[in-house]
Amino acid sequence: MFNIAVGSFIAECNPNSPAVGWPHFLSLGYLEGDAVLEELAAEFSTLPPELKGFFEAARSNFDSPRFHPLVCANGSATGPIDHACFQDIVHRMVTGVAGSGHLDGIYLALHGAAKTTQDEDPEGHLLQAIRNSVGPSVPILATLDLHANVTELMVRASSALIGYRTNPHVDMYDRGQDAAALLRKMRSGRSTVSVFHKIPMIAPSPTHLTAVDPMSSIWRRATEKSQPGRTNISMFTGYTHGDSPKSGMSTLITGDSDIADEIIKLGRDTAADLWHARGEFKLQLMEMHEAVERAMEAGEDPSRPAIAFADTNDNPGGGGRGNSIWALEAFVKAGVRHAVLGALCNPAVAREAHRVGEGACFHATYNADEPEPTSGKFSHDVRVLRVHDGHCIGRRGMFAGTALALGPSCLLEVAGIQVAVISKRLQTADPVFFEMLGVDLAKARSMVIKSRGHFRAGFDEFFSASQIFDIDVPGLTMRRLERIKFKKISRPMYPLDRDFEWKPEDGEVISFFPAPAQTA
Ligand SMILES: [Zn+2]
Repeated sequence: MFNIAVGSFIAECNPNSPAVGWPHFLSLGYLEGDAVLEELAAEFSTLPPELKGFFEAARSNFDSPRFHPLVCANGSATGPIDHACFQDIVHRMVTGVAGSGHLDGIYLALHGAAKTTQDEDPEGHLLQAIRNSVGPSVPILATLDLHANVTELMVRASSALIGYRTNPHVDMYDRGQDAAALLRKMRSGRSTVSVFHKIPMIAPSPTHLTAVDPMSSIWRRATEKSQPGRTNISMFTGYTHGDSPKSGMSTLITGDSDIADEIIKLGRDTAADLWHARGEFKLQLMEMHEAVERAMEAGEDPSRPAIAFADTNDNPGGGGRGNSIWALEAFVKAGVRHAVLGALCNPAVAREAHRVGEGACFHATYNADEPEPTSGKFSHDVRVLRVHDGHCIGRRGMFAGTALALGPSCLLEVAGIQVAVISKRLQTADPVFFEMLGVDLAKARSMVIKSRGHFRAGFDEFFSASQIFDIDVPGLTMRRLERIKFKKISRPMYPLDRDFEWKPEDGEVISFFPAPAQTA
């Protein structure tokens, strides 16, 4: 019998978004006990794909595995978490671990860029609380988002951390499987070494895409220098909007301890490679008036390629409100034709559409009660084309195979423009957001999508990279770093500060599992 505890705590916290507590987790995704195991066994799960990847790999590779479900709390991208709520989650996790009896390993799906109203390193403190509970010899493994702001405490309290390698994130399931493989290696008596570098640099998240440079080349160079099967490379571009002492990019390489010198050199080389590329993370944004001109041209001339605009500054996936009206207002006023926009998060508009019904017209008012000024307010006459309960299965990209609950949803029409409206704040990373409402995306001449970059993996059937532009309108996930009022980020930090040097030996963390004292 091989006893493994599994759980998750996922939250990426934007300090400019409203603080959230238990109601947020309960409405978005909270499970514990046997409900976690039932969900893991379901064909389409609401749980993070990495958890399912770990579960399925462990189930087929371990001898008689027995899973002990801990808390699964999914807060997605949001505001800071109420500290008492977080403490409650930690308490439930630790109680679950203590109640599981003898454990051979613990796996957690984490994000790595959470903050609470009082704590800048919740994941570090969660891992430390579990470590204190089980002692130093039980392997604790966690997967992290590529946008994690990793801390030394997270590294020291865990046995290994494994980051997503792709942006858009489409490899979460595979990374969960990697965690299972690494746990198996640790339990077979092999010791590992991890080398962690925190690099004092941030970059606008649209520049973090892994299929294009600079990240594409940095990944290729690191991979070429590593031994497959003996090395796990993680590179974290970090969550720029987190504005925290833990903000910044980082690298974490874990490998077999008998090649420790090689692993440490790979860590230093990779961290130095990122640092030397710091001037290559260049942001390209399109002004709204140019986007309108291009959408007008595409709408009037079918021979032109269709185009997509990422409303990157109001990305729910980065803690944005997902409800800003700037592109909608500009398109409606200019009379853009054959355009599709969305999905706007606006429960009041969706509710009214459901009340009047399909085919009926009403005067839609967006953000009537919204206090956030960057959301804007707008109203216009619309016709309801479709209403839907918002339950769907992700079809393509990061949400593929995931059961989604977008809340009461609708498709509205105004003078040649279709607007998709949902009631849960989730980034539009999958065509299903529109397709569930009957939209034929192949006929759209232009689109405005409430996502920063993850939609690229979902909408690649309709738009190649050359057909996609990031637009620059107000929002809580504004990309121009010079406009963000950072308060807590450590300094110096490139590019906020430019006149300083950094080398990998600065603050390097090297840790072994098991710790050398245990093997002596
Ligand atoms: Zn991410």
